[in-house]
Amino acid sequence: MGSKSFIWWVGKIESPATIADNGDATVGSMTITMDSLRAIYPTLNDNQLIVARNAHVMLLQVGLFRRAEMAIVLDRHTGAELLIIPGDISSIRRFVIPDYITGEVIVVHNHPNNSTFSASDILSFTIYSLRNVGRAVIDYLSTQGHNGNVYSISIGDGERPTMSTFVDIRDTIRNYFSHSRAAKPPESFDVINCYLCEKFGWNYRRGVD
Ligand SMILES: [Zn+2]
Repeated sequence: MGSKSFIWWVGKIESPATIADNGDATVGSMTITMDSLRAIYPTLNDNQLIVARNAHVMLLQVGLFRRAEMAIVLDRHTGAELLIIPGDISSIRRFVIPDYITGEVIVVHNHPNNSTFSASDILSFTIYSLRNVGRAVIDYLSTQGHNGNVYSISIGDGERPTMSTFVDIRDTIRNYFSHSRAAKPPESFDVINCYLCEKFGWNYRRGVD
């Protein structure tokens, strides 16, 4: 689904975006700075960063209007918009990227509650980070909070997951939440993300404020 048909589906967008000379984008009272995007996408060049910024802008515009989550899947190299995944009011349960999409992708999605990655985000990221021929591989998974918070997770030079890693991560999350003194979401997600990224050498980044 391209952006034109998507806008038709949404109906209207109430918050126009303004782009400053330095590339920072303002939507309503929220500014998405190029510095914060450089912080979460350190390996993207300027053209790729602009494509990513436009995805963040669209997610914020639609998210503020609908108060719902959605995701945009971008080709990591060309910036082509490959897919839009609509979510419900609170979340996207799990990202499903169809088999016809292959190669490295960036998955950007919005979080109306401004939190970092949820357990289902991490499990989806792990599944689509398996190095399988003929299937999409997530280079970056990122979030745009409605308060301006941005986060990303990427494998980088860390350990590429296997199916046993996936089971390990799923069990880690389950064990964490079964512990009575575990922090409750969304704070708990930050604890889990830090733990997993340290364990596997993944990069967990937050944009500068
Ligand atoms: Zn999410």
